[in-house]
Amino acid sequence: MALNARLDHRNPLVFDTHELGRRPGALQRLTRTIDAPKDLGIQGVIGVPEGTPMELALRLESVMDGVLVTGTARASAKGECVRCLEPLEQVLAADFQEMFSYPDADDRGRPKAEPVDDAEDDEDTLFLEDGLFDLEPVLRDAVVLALPMQPVCQDDCPGLCSECGARLADDPEHHHDAVDIRWAALQGLAGSLEDGEKDELSGAEPGVDEKQEK
Ligand SMILES: [Zn+2]
Ligand SMILES: [Zn+2]
Repeated sequence: MALNARLDHRNPLVFDTHELGRRPGALQRLTRTIDAPKDLGIQGVIGVPEGTPMELALRLESVMDGVLVTGTARASAKGECVRCLEPLEQVLAADFQEMFSYPDADDRGRPKAEPVDDAEDDEDTLFLEDGLFDLEPVLRDAVVLALPMQPVCQDDCPGLCSECGARLADDPEHHHDAVDIRWAALQGLAGSLEDGEKDELSGAEPGVDEKQEK
């Protein structure tokens, strides 16, 4: 086996294009169910837990310089509502399209001397290696793009009560009638602090000096 062969065909995210062949226009469709790899998604927000079954549907098309890969990945993503912090689960469908170039030809079709080194240096171009390609970086980008940066359990999630932290969606009637005497005292204090600040600011240059002091 060649020393530069990094891709392992037993890796579930590595695909083989030998069957497709290099005749431009050749098409191959395939599906594969994989276990989601580690850290797939938006770190600390929402993602597909490691080992979750993930359905991949791929369309491989042979073109002049390589193989154009188009596909969709489907899985269940888990996260937490940014407003009420409840766990949430949603169906993810991430579309992707990526070109994997033949490493043995540049754009004029001439052989290259050191294709693998170039592949590592060039971040924009992905290459086939011995007819194999690794879908993992493509899948990772597609999943991040398809997931919400601010997931919510429901579009109109009212979040948490600012006073006691109760989840308002569970208790739409929730409110606090009587203001606790200690709260009242604190609120009064906050009010007088605000007034004091305003007074100070009105006599000084607006805002600038205050920031620098902190
Ligand atoms: Zn929520
Ligand atoms: Zn409350």
